[in-house]
Amino acid sequence: MTDLLITNGRLLDPSQNLDGVMDIAIDDGEITEIGPNIDPSDAARVIDANSLIVTPGLIDLHTHVAAGIRKAGREDMMGDADIAGVHSGVTTVLDAGSTGAYNIAGFTNFVAPNVFTRTYALLNVGTLGVTRAPEVRDSEDIDIPASVEALQARPDVIVGVKVRMVTPGIGALGIDLPKSARQIANEAETGAFVMVHVGDILGQDPLAAELAPRLLSEVLTEGDVVTHALSFQVGALLKGGDLLAEVKVARERGVIFDVGVGKANFSFDSAKQVMDQGLMPDTISSDFTQMSRHEGPTHSLVECMNKMLALGVSLEDVIRMTTSRPAEVIGINDETGTLAVGYDADITILDAVGGDFLFRDVTGATLKGSLALKPVSTVRAGQVMPVDFGPRPWGWLPEQA
Ligand SMILES: [Zn+2]
Repeated sequence: MTDLLITNGRLLDPSQNLDGVMDIAIDDGEITEIGPNIDPSDAARVIDANSLIVTPGLIDLHTHVAAGIRKAGREDMMGDADIAGVHSGVTTVLDAGSTGAYNIAGFTNFVAPNVFTRTYALLNVGTLGVTRAPEVRDSEDIDIPASVEALQARPDVIVGVKVRMVTPGIGALGIDLPKSARQIANEAETGAFVMVHVGDILGQDPLAAELAPRLLSEVLTEGDVVTHALSFQVGALLKGGDLLAEVKVARERGVIFDVGVGKANFSFDSAKQVMDQGLMPDTISSDFTQMSRHEGPTHSLVECMNKMLALGVSLEDVIRMTTSRPAEVIGINDETGTLAVGYDADITILDAVGGDFLFRDVTGATLKGSLALKPVSTVRAGQVMPVDFGPRPWGWLPEQA
């Protein structure tokens, strides 16, 4: 018997250079066969994906989903992993530093095990994470031994360390701020990577711009991630409209560049400037929060993908940047991020809808697009999960132009 058969979909899987109409069979949570015309008589359940796109389960490399772990008065911050995840067509989310050494056990013990979405976390270098932002005001807010211990306690969930290059931490600690994140990762010896938020959204301190080249050349190593790579903020990768020269060298060293759209870390202009100067990001992520889900301009990961499509990135690249590539970054590409036989059945079914769409960024700028992806169903470890109504009053599609 086969638990589930998805028929007639356009299988689009950059990890295998696969793009064609095929069937996919799932049994016991794993992909057991892909190919044309698989016999449906053995299948307990059949989903007809005719005219739909079937991709590896989408992975959101930057979210804030520590629901329930927060400071009083910040009820709007933390999202729910399944709302960002399976109910939005996303099978894996990485929480990017919502918690730190003193409260991440709440995440590993009570959040991650109780959601359907495959959920991982980055430990914030600040001991309480962004549940108490700004999370680093001075060196008292960093506890290296406790952070190392936290990483070592749960390497199955905590895959890296997060640091934000923002006021007031950069003023107090300078380059020692990101260096302490790298030190925690090094000392833990769990293979953790460092994700750095660039762009001083809290202060626009010129110091952030001075530190950015040093961060790229002195601190980050292979597998580390720069998030908000397309940002217009002071201290991100653009200086006076020019892409920092250190970006190219860092990329050659194996540093990863992530989009992290978020509330204030992306504009269509800055995105064009960065990409026109030769930096095509490795991964697309949302920086999802409860607030952004409701107020925008980042309601979901698919919306971020749609914005990248509107900026001219190909459909295949957009899917790679949200499937196989982030799976490699997290180190779970031996389990997910592909539709290959033997891997976990983490699958997203999308509708690619044509139209005259209008996208907005935080600066008020608009961009037109003619294609929008809309999640239809999510399969997580073989289990079919419902996609919700969508974040907009009319559902999932972008605004009409
Ligand atoms: Zn974030």
